Amino acid sequence: MASIFTHPVVAIAFSPWVNKLNKRKVIISGIILSIFPDIDVIAFKFGIPYEHLLGHRGITHSITFALLFSGAITWLIAQSSKLAIWLYLFICMVSHGILDALTNGGLGIAFFAPFLNERYFLPIQPLQVSTLHVQHFFSEHGVTVMKSEFLYVWLPLLFLWGVNYFLWRIKKTA
Ligand SMILES: [Zn+2]
Repeated sequence: MASIFTHPVVAIAFSPWVNKLNKRKVIISGIILSIFPDIDVIAFKFGIPYEHLLGHRGITHSITFALLFSGAITWLIAQSSKLAIWLYLFICMVSHGILDALTNGGLGIAFFAPFLNERYFLPIQPLQVSTLHVQHFFSEHGVTVMKSEFLYVWLPLLFLWGVNYFLWRIKKTA
């Protein structure tokens, strides 16, 4: 995983897209969906191996799961502009696997599950892999993780937020 603090930054970066669309409920859903794929760590407790379809970074990190799950949440929370909200929630959720695929540890991501159980990393992995244990997070390792995530995720995403906000303002005044 990238750290639990970093996945939700995607939901913030794209939040100007949903500024008019029952903003708070949608953005909070986006934040939750951005971290939701890591629910699969409970697989370890049930003795399901990492590389299994149901294991960590398996099916819940796939594109298909993101598409279906964000669709279901859209159906639950949206009364209108469903396509825009679905797109936003999908980006929040699918970004989770993409960020994980930028980390330098663990197994890759089963992007194409359940059709292919192959695991993938992106060609570059600038992110220091985060620990699954909160107590380890407040350590030297935690600082290294946050540094790499700040540089390679937070800064570009904050820039993206600026661009998205700017585009939204232009659209609003036009
Ligand atoms: Zn993950």
